[in-house]
Formats: sequence, C-alpha cells, structure tokens
Amino acid sequence: MDSLQSIERHLRLIPLSPELRQVMAVIRDRGGDAFVVGGALRDWAWQPQNHDPASVDWDLATNLSPDLMRDLAVRPHPGERFGTFLLGSHIEATIMRREAGYSDGRHPSEIEPVTSIERDLSRRDFTVNAFAFDGQQLRWVEGGLEDLRDRCLRAVGDASMRFQEDPLRMARLIRLMGISGAKADSSTWRAMQLHRSSLKQVSRERRLEEFVKFLRSPLDRWPLWRQAGMDDALDWPSPIPESSSHFVAAPSHPAAKIAAYFLSTNASLADLDRWTRRWPLPRSWGSGLRALLKASCYFDPDLWSQRARGSREPYVWIFRDLALAAGVAEDELDPVYLDLSSHELQEGWGLHGQRLGAALGHLHGMVAVHPDWNHRQRLVSCLEAWLNETGGP
Ligand code: ATP
Ligand code: MG
Repeated sequence: MDSLQSIERHLRLIPLSPELRQVMAVIRDRGGDAFVVGGALRDWAWQPQNHDPASVDWDLATNLSPDLMRDLAVRPHPGERFGTFLLGSHIEATIMRREAGYSDGRHPSEIEPVTSIERDLSRRDFTVNAFAFDGQQLRWVEGGLEDLRDRCLRAVGDASMRFQEDPLRMARLIRLMGISGAKADSSTWRAMQLHRSSLKQVSRERRLEEFVKFLRSPLDRWPLWRQAGMDDALDWPSPIPESSSHFVAAPSHPAAKIAAYFLSTNASLADLDRWTRRWPLPRSWGSGLRALLKASCYFDPDLWSQRARGSREPYVWIFRDLALAAGVAEDELDPVYLDLSSHELQEGWGLHGQRLGAALGHLHGMVAVHPDWNHRQRLVSCLEAWLNETGGP
C-alpha cells in the first residue's frame, strides 16, 4: 500500500499544461493566488496513466476579485454569477468562497468570498476533491490523503448536512464511484440513502449531466446507479421483473449509452419516448433515440445493423453504436454499394426523382436479403422485373 508521503509526493508532480501555467502566472501577476483543485488532482492520483495535461478539465481556485477575473475570461460562462470564469479551452476558475443558505437546494443563496484556500476547501463535496496545489504548496482537508490512498469517497464534514445543502452531491457520489471504482465511506453512503429522494429538487439539467457522466464508467458498474436508488431520482420507468438476458456492451455515443442502459435495466425501449421528451437532451440525441424507438422496442441487433447500413438513414450513428455494442462485427456494418450506380439507372433507364429513389430502395432491399445478388447482371434483371411490375420508368 502506498504511504501517505508517496501520495503527497506524487500529487506535487502533476504535469500541468503550458496554457494552465501561463494562466496561473497571470493571476499571480495581478496579485492573486491560483490553486489547481478538483478532479484533476484526484484523477492524477487514481488514474495517472490517463492524465493528458492538454485535455484534462482544469479547475482553479483563486482569490482575485470577480471584476479582475472577468477581464481574464476568454468567453462568458453561465456560472459567472456564482464566481466561475472560463480562462482557457479547458480551464475554469472559481473564486475562493464559502457557501451558505441553500434555500432552494440548488444554488447557495449566499456566496461569501474567502481569502484562505483552507476555507474554500472545506465547502467542497468529498475529501478526495478537496486538494489544492499552486505549483509549490499542496493543501488538503483532514483525512484527504488517507481517503485518496484507500480510494474512499467521504463527504467533507457532516454528510447528511452536506447532502441536504446540495442534493446533487449524492448523484456526484454515485457518478464518481462508477467512474473510478472507489467505494463510499459508510456514513456517507447511509446519508445518501437517507436523503436521496431530495435529488428531485435539483434541476433536470444537472441530474442528467451526472447520469451521462456516470455512463462513462465500465459496464459492470452500471448496476450501481440502480442499486443506489438513482433511477428513481431520474424518473426512470420501473424495470420489468425478469431482467434482460441480452448483452449490450457500452457503446461510444452518450445517447447510445442511454439506450443501452435502458435495455440493460429494462430490456425494452418502450418508455424511451416519454423519457426523452422530459429530459433536456441535445436535439440530435433526442431524435436519434426516437428513431431507435420507432425501429424497435426491444433488443434487435439485426434491425440495428440493417439501419446502420442504410444510405438514407439520418441516425446511422445510434444504430451503428448499438449494433457494435450488441456484438455485430464492424465489417457487417459497412454501407452496401450496389454494383449498379444511380447514374447508370438515370442514363440507362431514364429514372429520376422519386422513381429513382424507389428503384434504388428496391435493389438495396433485394441485396439485404440476398447479399450474393449484388452483381450487375443480377441487378439488371431484378430492376427490369420491378419496372415491369410497377409500370415502366
Ligand atoms: P470532473 O471534472 O471529472 O467531472 P470534478 O470533481 O472536477 O470532476 P467539477 O464539476 O469539475 O467536478 O467540480 C470541480 C470541483 O468543485 C470538485 O472536485 C469539487 O471540489 C467542487 N464541487 C463541484 N460540485 C460541487 C458541489 N455540488 N458541492 C461541493 N463541491 C463541489
Ligand atoms: Mg473538474
């Protein structure tokens, strides 16, 4: 087991990106302190092999005033009211603060700037997220190093109080457990069980964001979301009692992951439409999920791979992702090119517009059923038979 000193030493060696160093130097030039905080340090401790300074989402804490920070911002950020500023493509800085009075369970009703990083760390959610490093000094809350060593998620302070202040922290707990494989400290877990129903007070945007982040975790951790009672918080439809015997590995696109989660917990996509309409999904995800629902309510890799090959299918990505995740071989998903081009159909048979589309659709349909018919001679006789049946060009 790693010693506490070796973890501390490791944290101090975190490779920072040149852009981040530059931003921290500018903050110092203006008279402020700048500390790296949050997930970057935690992930560097737990998954150093995945650390890429150029693509890490860097979180900074600073005691520079909001007015000075606004000058440094590269773009406006929706969190500016709460003291968060965007200082680079992957760099967010938040004013060091103390929070109080969570009257709506969503946003702190009072934010009081603080000058000491220790005060700022004590308002953070979990001890492993409450580290700060300014390039030289490393600060943390009590127990933080032990929890990093033991891969343990423990609320900073009294877990019940912290979850009541901001219920989203409970979804963050499950998301971090899923992604990192860390366990929860027992009193933090009990407090989550006690207070999880209040997650419904949190905005749908924030809840959905945590769920989608959770789905980046390895597939064998997906049941954790349900076991922790989070489905209820997302108004997920109740599962059918006998669980699905079908296997869908985690696909790559977040919307396809959502569908795969649906299938793995409930074997059916039947409630997807209602669910999709209620959650603030990006438009293309919503349309992809609805196309999927129209195609099939249940697990149907054959149908998905057929749609994935369709040259006119606008939501190829979702069908392709799911078919791959259901074990269909990649080369079976390549689009089918007919041995007779649409140009030849126009020139040779005078087909245009809808009629041309219908002829191509017919030939593609034939080839889907009889892949060995995809050669010129056979296609020409199919086409002519079809033209005869349907009344010439
Ligand atoms: P990731 O960036 O991988 O999603 P993260 O832990 O960095 O994980 P962020 O949302 O970037 O999450 O938040 C940065 C830090 O801000 C967290 O590590 C934590 O210290 C603090 N934080 C975020 N949300 C909350 C919250 N709801 N309550 C208390 N502290 C929070
Ligand atoms: Mg972060």
